[in-house]
Order: sequence, then C-alpha cells, then structure tokens
Amino acid sequence: MECSHDYLIVGGGMAADAAAKSIREIDAAADVGIVGDEAAPPYQRPPLSKALWKGDKSPGDIDLDTAASGAVVHGGRRIVALDRAAHLARDDHGNSYRYCRLLLATGATPRRLPFDAGERMIHFRTLDDYRALRRFAVKGAHVAVVGGGFIGSELAASLAGAGCKVTMLFPGPSIGAGRYPDALCHFLDDYYREHGVTVSAGVNVVDGKAVGEGVELALSDGETLRVDAVAVGIGVTPNAELAEQAGLKVDNGVVVDDRLRSSDADIWAAGDIANFRNPALDRRLRVEHEDAAVGMGKHAGRVMAGIDEPYDTLPFFYSDLFDLGYEAVGLLDSHLDVVEDWREPCREGVVYYLDGGRVRGVLLWNTWDQVDAARELIAQAGPFDASSLRGRLPHST
Ligand code: NAP
Repeated sequence: MECSHDYLIVGGGMAADAAAKSIREIDAAADVGIVGDEAAPPYQRPPLSKALWKGDKSPGDIDLDTAASGAVVHGGRRIVALDRAAHLARDDHGNSYRYCRLLLATGATPRRLPFDAGERMIHFRTLDDYRALRRFAVKGAHVAVVGGGFIGSELAASLAGAGCKVTMLFPGPSIGAGRYPDALCHFLDDYYREHGVTVSAGVNVVDGKAVGEGVELALSDGETLRVDAVAVGIGVTPNAELAEQAGLKVDNGVVVDDRLRSSDADIWAAGDIANFRNPALDRRLRVEHEDAAVGMGKHAGRVMAGIDEPYDTLPFFYSDLFDLGYEAVGLLDSHLDVVEDWREPCREGVVYYLDGGRVRGVLLWNTWDQVDAARELIAQAGPFDASSLRGRLPHST
C-alpha cells in the first residue's frame, strides 16, 4: 500500500493525538495520518498505573477518540525508514507514506531486566501491559514491583489498593531517592510499609525464571523471591533510532528548536523524544511526562499548521501515592540546595530546589493550584534563599 498525508505523525501516543487535534483545529480540511505500533488507537497513559486499578475507569474510558478529529490512525504499524529527500516513510509491513510535514512522536521503550522470565514478568508501559498484569495481579496474588521511580511507586500503591501482596525491589536507598528530600523519602518508605507493601531498598534483581504459575527472582542479597507476577519500571530509552538513521540531529533525543522543529525543516518532534530548550531554566530538557507529551504535541501541531510561535512552557508533572499526591515543575534533584516549607511535615507543603540562588524546581506536595506560580518563580532571577521562600507559595487550605 502507498498512501499520502499532508501531515504524517509517527507514533500513536498522547503527543500524536494532541498534534492531530490541533492541526485539525487550525486546518479543518487537513489530511492527517498517524502511524503507531500499538494496536490500540491513542489513549491516556497515566491511568495505566493509577485510575484503572481503583475501578474509577475502565480501558474503554481512556480512549482519546483521535479518529473523531478526522485523522486516519494506521495502528499496529511501525515506521522503520525515513527518506527525507523523497518525503517518504516506510513501515514494517512494507507500506509507504508520502508526507509534506512530519512529526516524530515515537515515545520511549522500557529498559529491560537482563533475563527472560516469561509472560508473568511485565515491563510496564502500554495498555497491553496493563491487561497482561491485570490477568495475574488478582486479589491475594503476590506481585514484585521492580524499580522505585514513577511506575514503581504508583503501581505498588495501586496493586496494594487492589488487594495484592506487594514487594518493591530497587537498588537505591529509598523510594524517591535523589528526587525528594531525605526525610520525605524515609517517610514514604514507612508510609508504604504501613500500607502493607514490603519495601526492599538497596536490592537488585540479578536473575529470574518462570516457575510453574509464577516467577522466581534471584536477588543481590542472596535471597530468592517467588511471586505470582513481576511488574518492572526501571526507566525508559527514547525511541530516537529512526531520527538517527534519517540523519537528524540527535543528542539525548531529537534536538529541536524553539518551534519544536528538528534539523530538517519539514520534521518536528514532541514528547518523550524531544530535546528542547526551556528559557526559564536556560537549559535543554527532555521530559517524559504527560504534560510534555500533550503540550508539545499540541504546540508542534499548531506550528506545523502555520501558527509561528515559540514553545516556552515548562511542563509540570504529578503523581499519586496512596492518598498522597503532588504536582511539580522543573528539576527535582535533591543534590541541589533544598528548602522545605511544610505546613504539616511530609503531608502538605512545598519543597524548593535552588541552584546559585535561583529556583530550579518546585515540588507541590498535597498543595494544589500553584503550578503557574511555581513556573513564575523558576523564571525569576532571584536570588532566593530559605527565608525569602518560606510561605511564598500559598498552601492549600
Ligand atoms: P523512572 O521514574 O525513571 O524510575 C526508574 C527507577 O528504576 C529508578 O528508581 C531507578 O533507580 C530504578 N532502576 C534503574 N535500574 C534498575 C534496575 N536494574 N533494577 C531496579 N531498579 C532500577 O522510570 P519508570 O518508573 O520506569 O517510568 C518510566 C517512564 O514513565 C518515565 O519516563 C516516567 O517519567 C514516566 N512515568 C511518569 C509518570 C508520572 O508522570 N506520574 C507515571 C508513570 C510513568 P535509580 O534512580 O537509582 O537509577
């Protein structure tokens, strides 16, 4: 098959959906095609580790209804080659797609543990992964969660809430280490334990195999752990091979300008793979969160459709950990100078991350509607210190 689209979007995630919708908002007659390797059309990814486990939502509720925008979704196909001179993309089924303008929104691939333990070990990323885990993570099942980052901490809480026995395994000293202040990390370890989760910090999974109706994991402390299923969230790698093969500038993702345009004037990039410059932080970033995917997808779509404006947003992110939650902006790096301003220690407050007197990140812990104020603070020249920051962002009431 050979087809052609004015706008071709490579990747079928949230960035792709947002781009297709914004292109069609500006140009209602635009011919937009999306090629994504997942069989499912674009869907909301955050509920996979959160709301779907609470029973608030079912998989049908998270469909983004991309086709209603008028875009054609070619699902279950992966673009494997890009001929920039001919403006032609080719997929893994031998189909060709001509394009005028192209958006790379190829997302990221989960890092894998270095062994195969069969279908009960799930490197968690997609709706299919959610469905696979759900089959085994029934009430009373013992699930090992490997990784203490976003997926690990959210899934461990969700699985425990769904009645599973959960063991978290990660190499760092505590949940959120390097990201949150030490006292908050220790609080979280205790908080998870109080909620029935076994938190095994400082432990690597070195090997594993399928055993009967379960998985046996070999741990770095010499122990063996037998579980019904394993959910793995040990980080991701941006899918930038296609861009690299096509000769685009790639350096920790696809390097884009302030219009999200790559080193090819007819190719843009958005979401997990885009390496963009943020003016407030005065540095390049690659952000692997929903707001970056949706905001950049939308912005790239607008620019591709002719609206010439810079992308200067600092994306925010959020997480839910049992009944705790937060929103955050900028760099959450506990190696920076950390100022904690608690209304109630580890329950409600604001954490500021400073470098040379400038605020580089803000963690709004159970503190809501302050994201824009946090962004403004990050854009300010300062200098700031603990005394000028305390009480600066209003706490929620
Ligand atoms: P992540 O947040 O980067 O966390 C990865 C974790 O795995 C880190 O704690 C890391 O520890 C640990 N790790 C690395 N290698 C390991 C190994 N061999 N064994 C055990 N643990 C290991 O990544 P993620 O949780 O996998 O999430 C994947 C992507 O989805 C990320 O980009 C994330 O931002 C995104 N996501 C975002 C949200 C949200 O915004 N709420 C929710 C879910 C997923 P070290 O830090 O010590 O290396």
